[in-house]
Amino acid sequence: MSVAEIFETMEYGPAPESAAPALEWLAQHSEGFGHFMGGAWTAPGTLFLTENPATGKVLAQISQGTEADIAVAVAAASAALPGWKALGGAGRAKFLYALARQIQKHSRLFAVLETLDNGKPIRETRDIDIPLVARHFYHHAGWATLLETECAGYEAVGVCGQIIPWNFPLLMLSWKIAPALAAGCTVVLKPADLTPLTALLFAEVCAEIGLPAGVVNIVTGDGSTGAALVAHPDVQKIAFTGSTEVGRLIRKATAGTGKKLSLELGGKSPFIVFEDADLDAAVEGVVDAIWFNQGEVCCAGSRLLVQESVEERFLQKLQRRMETLRVGDPLDKATDIGAIVAPIQLARIDELVKAGVDQGAMLFQPKAACPTTGSFYPPTLLTGVSPASVVVQEEIFGPVLVAMSFRTPAEAIALANNTPYGLAASLWSESINQCLEAAPKLKAGTIWINGTNLFDAAAGFGGYRESGFGREGGKEGLWEYLVSSPLAPVRVPREARLVGLGGRNLDQTAKLYIGGKQARPDSGYSRTVLSPTGESIGVVGDGNRKDIRNAVEAARAAAAGWGGASGHNRAQILYYLAENLSYRAAEFAARITQQTGQEGTDEVEQSIAQLFIWAAWADKNDGSVHRTIQKSVVLAMPEPLGVLGVACPREQPLLGLISVVAPAIALGNVVVAVPSEAHPLSATDFYQVLETSDVPGGVVNLITGERDVLIKTLAEHDDVDGIWYFGESAALVETASVGNLKRTWCPKPGTIPRQDAFLRAATQVKNIWIPYTDELPW
Ligand code: NAD
Repeated sequence: MSVAEIFETMEYGPAPESAAPALEWLAQHSEGFGHFMGGAWTAPGTLFLTENPATGKVLAQISQGTEADIAVAVAAASAALPGWKALGGAGRAKFLYALARQIQKHSRLFAVLETLDNGKPIRETRDIDIPLVARHFYHHAGWATLLETECAGYEAVGVCGQIIPWNFPLLMLSWKIAPALAAGCTVVLKPADLTPLTALLFAEVCAEIGLPAGVVNIVTGDGSTGAALVAHPDVQKIAFTGSTEVGRLIRKATAGTGKKLSLELGGKSPFIVFEDADLDAAVEGVVDAIWFNQGEVCCAGSRLLVQESVEERFLQKLQRRMETLRVGDPLDKATDIGAIVAPIQLARIDELVKAGVDQGAMLFQPKAACPTTGSFYPPTLLTGVSPASVVVQEEIFGPVLVAMSFRTPAEAIALANNTPYGLAASLWSESINQCLEAAPKLKAGTIWINGTNLFDAAAGFGGYRESGFGREGGKEGLWEYLVSSPLAPVRVPREARLVGLGGRNLDQTAKLYIGGKQARPDSGYSRTVLSPTGESIGVVGDGNRKDIRNAVEAARAAAAGWGGASGHNRAQILYYLAENLSYRAAEFAARITQQTGQEGTDEVEQSIAQLFIWAAWADKNDGSVHRTIQKSVVLAMPEPLGVLGVACPREQPLLGLISVVAPAIALGNVVVAVPSEAHPLSATDFYQVLETSDVPGGVVNLITGERDVLIKTLAEHDDVDGIWYFGESAALVETASVGNLKRTWCPKPGTIPRQDAFLRAATQVKNIWIPYTDELPW
C-alpha cells in the first residue's frame, strides 16, 4: 500500500510487537515447567498444554499439581512463615519494593507473555495490566512499612492459599500476593490452568530478588489442584477470584474449618446513561466497559441502561463507534479487541448469544470480519431484551453488551439492582447530584461516575451480594490477611460468683418480638426456662421457620428507613435505650441472677456501657477518601450490610445480646436475633425497653428457641444479608449461607472481638469514583 493510499483510507498499518524475547524464554523451558516451591523448581510432572488463543499454537507444557504437590508447597510456606513474620514490616517492605522494581525491569517480557497466553491486546497488557501490577507491589511495600502502627494489635493470618482466574493473570496474582506478603503471610498460589505463564515468570523474579525460600510458592494445575489447596488443613486463609459457582464450592469446603475466606466472584454490572450525559463520552465509556479485555472482565459494564429520551441517538452513536473497533492480532499495537481466552469460552459466548437471539433479542455486530483462525468474537450489541432474558441475567464474560431503556432514575436503579450480583456500576450524567443520589442506592461494591473499569492499588475492590465478600486493595484489603493478636479474653463479670436467687420466682410467659410487636410463636409450643437449680422460672416461645420468615420480612421492611437514617438519629435512640435500661437496672440484674445464679449488676452496667460505646460510633465510622493514581476522588463509604441474622452467645444473657445487637444497629443494620438459648428471659424483658425507646418496629426482632435450628434457617434465607454467629457450630452457618453467599462472621468461641472488628463486620465498603480534571475549561 502506498503512502498516498494510506492517507486516502486512513487505515492503520500493521504495528506488531515482537514476540521473540518471550518465545526465547519459553524455549528455555521446552521440557515443561515444574512447580516453584520452597524457593526451588520441581521436575515437570504430568504435563498439560497452554496455548496461544490467537493462533491455537502450543506455547508451553505445564505440570498438573497433585495433592502431594500442594502438601509440599504448604509445608514450605509454613516453614517460611515464622522468619517472614519476624522480619517485620520494614524488612518485608524491601522485598515488596524489589519485586515492584524487578517487574518494571521485565515489564515488556511480562506484557508480551501475558498477551501470548491470554489473547488480550498488547496495548492493554503494556499500558494497564503490568503497570498496575508494579503499582500494587509498591503500594503494599508502603503498607508493610506502616503495618505495625496502622494495624496495631493485628498479625498475619498465616499460610494463604490463593486461587486466581485467567482474565487478568498477573494482575490478579499481584492483588493476592502483594497484600499477603505485606501483612506477613506466606502464600501458595495456583494460577488458572489456561494462563499460568506470567505466574511462572513471576516465580523466577522472586528467586532473582532473593525472596526467602517458601514465602511465595506457585503450583500450577486445574480445579482439582485448587480444591486440594482449599482442603489443606495448614492453610489459614483462602483468597479466591473466579466464578460464583466455584466460589460456592469453596464456601462449602471451608465451612467450619476456621479458615478466613475472601471471594471475588462474577458480575453483571449496569452501565447507566442518563439523558443529560455527555453522550459521546459515554459511548467511549461503553467501549471501555465491555470491549476492554474482550469483555472478559468480572466488573464489565455488560448491561447498558439508557434513558428512553436519548436511547435511539445513543445506540446510533454506539453502533457507529463499534464499526471502528479493530478485532485481531493481540500483538498488534493497533488492536482494540484480541482473542477470547480459549475455544471453550468462545463456544460459551456463542451459545449464550444464540440463546438471547432465540428469546427475541436483536443482534448487531459490525461489518468488519473477525480473523477466522484462532478464538475471536466480534463486539456485539443485543437490544430488544427483557429483564428476565438469559443474556440480561447471566454473566456472558465476552464482548457482548445488552441494552435496555428506562424512563425515570428510580426505574434505572430498580433495573440495575435486578441481578443477584453486585460488583460494580457506572453512572453517566453531567449532574453530580443525580449521580450522588443514585450511587448509594446501587447494590455494588464499586461505583464509577462518568468513568468505568478504573482500578488502583489504593482503592478497595470487591462485591456485594453474590459477587462475593472481602476487598482487595487499600487498607480495606489488608484486613483480609490479618487476625487480631492476641485474642481478647472473654470478660468475666467482676463479681462472678453464685448468689442466692433472691426469692424471685415469677413464672411468666414471654412472646417473640417481631416488627415491633409481641407475637405468639407459630408452633404454638413453648420452652420452659430453668434456674441453675432446675426450677422453672418462665416460659418463652419456641420459634420456628415461619417466625423467622415473618421476622425477616419485618426487618426488610425497616431496613431502608433505618439504614438511611442519620448516624446522629441512630445514636439518639441507642442513648435512649441505655437510659431506659439504667432505670430498670436492678430488675435486669435480678433477672440475670435468677437465670444464671451469677451476680447481675456488673453485667447490666457493662450492657449500658456497650450501648454508650455504640451510640458513640453511630456517627463516626467515617470511611475514607482514597488517593489513587487516576485523577479521581474515591470515596470509600462503609454501608450497612442490611438484614443481619444474629445468634447471641450462651453466656451473659443481657450483655451477650446487647454487645452484638448494639453495634449491628448502630451502623444501620436491622437484626433478627436469637438470644441465649439457655437464658432467654433477659432478651424477652429487653423488648419492653425497645418498645419504650423509640426503636422503630422491625429494627430489632427477637426469636427465642433452639439457637442452631433458628440460625440455620436464617443462614439459608435468601433475603438475609449477613449472619453473626457466636457459638460452636460455625460449619452449620457457613454451609447454610451458600445460597446467596451472604457474609458470615463466626468469631472463635470464647473470644470477644475488638470494636474495629465489629465495625468491619457490620459494614461493607462501597468505593465511589468521582473523576476530576486539572485542565480547567475557563
Ligand atoms: P473459575 O471459577 O472456573 O476458575 C477460577 C480458578 O479457580 C481457576 O484457577 C480454577 O482452576 C480454580 N478452580 C476451579 N474449580 C475449583 C475448585 N473446585 N476448587 C478450587 N479451585 C478451583 O473461573 P474462571 O473461568 O477462571 O474466571 C472467570 C470468572 O472469574 C468469572 O466469573 C469472573 O467474573 C470472575 N472474576 C472475578 C473477579 C473479581 O475480582 N470479582 C476478577 C476476575 C474474574
